[in-house]
Amino acid sequence: MSSFPIDRLSKLETPFYYYDTDLLRQTLSEIRRATQRWPHFHVHYAVKANANARLLSIIREAGLGADCVSGGEIEAARQALFPPQGIVYAGVGKADWEIRLALQTGIFCFNVESMAELEVIDQIAAHEQRVASVCLRINPDVGAHTHANITTGLAENKFGIAMSDMLPVIDRMRSMHHVKLVGLHFHIGSQILDMGDFEALCNRVNELQHLLEQRHIVLSHINVGGGLGVDYQHPDRVLLPDFDAYFRTYARLLRLRPGQQLHFELGRAVVAQCGSLITRVLYVKQGAHKQFAIVDAGMTDLIRPALYQAYHKIENISAPEAPRETYDVVGPICESSDVFAKQIDLPRCQRGQLLAIRSAGAYGEIMASQYNCRRLPGSVTADELR
Ligand SMILES: *Cc1c(COP(=O)(O)O)cnc(C)c1O
Repeated sequence: MSSFPIDRLSKLETPFYYYDTDLLRQTLSEIRRATQRWPHFHVHYAVKANANARLLSIIREAGLGADCVSGGEIEAARQALFPPQGIVYAGVGKADWEIRLALQTGIFCFNVESMAELEVIDQIAAHEQRVASVCLRINPDVGAHTHANITTGLAENKFGIAMSDMLPVIDRMRSMHHVKLVGLHFHIGSQILDMGDFEALCNRVNELQHLLEQRHIVLSHINVGGGLGVDYQHPDRVLLPDFDAYFRTYARLLRLRPGQQLHFELGRAVVAQCGSLITRVLYVKQGAHKQFAIVDAGMTDLIRPALYQAYHKIENISAPEAPRETYDVVGPICESSDVFAKQIDLPRCQRGQLLAIRSAGAYGEIMASQYNCRRLPGSVTADELR
């Protein structure tokens, strides 16, 4: 059972996100420890998982780069003082203003997802009198054993350049003067716990590098994306993702060329476990067949259960020792999918008590919406409550 500063939290207006910034720092130092044997490993934080300014500052202080998927994320990264040379930028639909912003910011590299995009970057860079460093995002047709909505590396997905187009695109680049090919980029999906999926990616990258080598093309950077998952079932027993297993898989299987740098883009694994959505019980209602705990947070505050049928552990942090009863925990939104959990056992709930919806630091606050004209959830860190 985790420890929440319940006295402090119960004075705040709910719902809000609570971030255990000590756990975030511990996670970041674990990443540092797990990678220190390999100075050519570079970890970027995937800003889309959570762009909370306080978390971004802590992550930047730990020395990670930033992986952005929009102009807005590049702005958020810059506001948090991430150095431009540590910023990578992916996305299937980069708008002209976003490309211009990235060029003016002087980011490290564009992860380019189509021939059409490459031509536009070349034109805009010419106009800006700059040369854009580019990694080609290749769709490796490697499946990830995760939820269908969060696989990205299958041939059927919209992401990346088909493997069969890699060499033709590189040939076309020879006549472009404002883009410079520096590497290849991949990202196969999210919430991946089976190291076999990352092994399959390594094998694919090795094949493609072999193909390039036959053409005497040597690239200085390989970026294997992110996707390492966390344990949503046991957020206390397994506080930290298995970073050792993850990085060792790449160290063991990926055949890098001399001097080649290896980049990672981790989002969920960095921030998921440090965040909880704190919500208040509004009503306990006896339905025809079951009992509902109706809370003041809804799918507008945390959409993962409604969107991906995702599981989040829920705790009654006001009365952890009360006798347990069975509840559906539901929000106030006018949608039947606004359900956080069905038929779970919780210490008996009463109006006014606080529940913690755990492992909500990634793809939680950042995906909040104002549907039903609701207010966006607030946030507080452990640092601020000291
Ligand atoms: C979403 C995303 C990531 C991060 O994925 P996680 O599963 O949160 O680690 C990394 N790279 C790209 C290109 C992404 O779109």
